Amino acid sequence: MLWSGRDGVCYHRTVAFTESAARRLETIGFRSTAPRRAVLKAIEGAPGPFTVEDLLGELPGVGRATVFRTIKLLQELDLLCRVPLEDGSVRYQLSEGTHHHHLVCRSCGRFTEFADLELDRRIQEQAAQHGFHLQGHSLELYGLCSACGAAGVA
Ligand SMILES: [Zn+2]
Ligand SMILES: [Zn+2]
Ligand SMILES: [Zn+2]
Repeated sequence: MLWSGRDGVCYHRTVAFTESAARRLETIGFRSTAPRRAVLKAIEGAPGPFTVEDLLGELPGVGRATVFRTIKLLQELDLLCRVPLEDGSVRYQLSEGTHHHHLVCRSCGRFTEFADLELDRRIQEQAAQHGFHLQGHSLELYGLCSACGAAGVA
């Protein structure tokens, strides 16, 4: 892998992600083809949050459609988080596998994950009060992480 390292980015490295993700994909009917495994391996090896373009750059022999499709499936399985940044770009990183939200540091780019069942319950209540058929939600909080805040980064 040619991934260039990025300092200071917190990253949850899941052991044998490729194997477990390939099995999960097979349970929903997606065979573990060589290109698909290459995508999983590249994701497993990523040094930090990555863009689709980063991933495509790592996988010159794999078609764009395969990369996009695999990312979408992994998101649906809660194996990959999709984190929109304020500039409109999107980063991905391995997920801990359950629903959660993100604290996004504007300075170092670190994502911190948090889960809050009470907050999720309130979101469902809001949707119900509006007669809205809720199918999912994501929540990102933007600011400075504790390290950057303490270092006085503006
Ligand atoms: Zn996440
Ligand atoms: Zn930070
Ligand atoms: Zn939530």
